[in-house]
Amino acid sequence: MERTHKIVDIRRNDNVRVITGRDKGKEGRVLRVIPSEGKVLVEHVMMVKKNVRPNPQRNIKGGIAEQESPISISNVMLVCNSCQRPVRVGHEKRGDKHVRTCKSCGNTLEK
Ligand SMILES: [Zn+2]
Repeated sequence: MERTHKIVDIRRNDNVRVITGRDKGKEGRVLRVIPSEGKVLVEHVMMVKKNVRPNPQRNIKGGIAEQESPISISNVMLVCNSCQRPVRVGHEKRGDKHVRTCKSCGNTLEK
């Protein structure tokens, strides 16, 4: 049986790579994690065009703006700073702290 609630190993400001979908291969920084939807917002990934209404009072010109849209967490993998590639995430207790570790090199993934 598949687990529906998967532990979210991805946090804000993590570096992730898209492993499947339209933006496969892109890397970016996580701007926001939306655990309730199982999604993340990644910088420069899944850009969508959005119509913006002009608002002269706030000095906003109308037109088309590009904006990130959320992508499923299962479509991205955390990139290890040491390995420079997407890795599986392990969990370890170091002292009082719970840290995420790279399953390839063993280094901590926390910044
Ligand atoms: Zn690593």
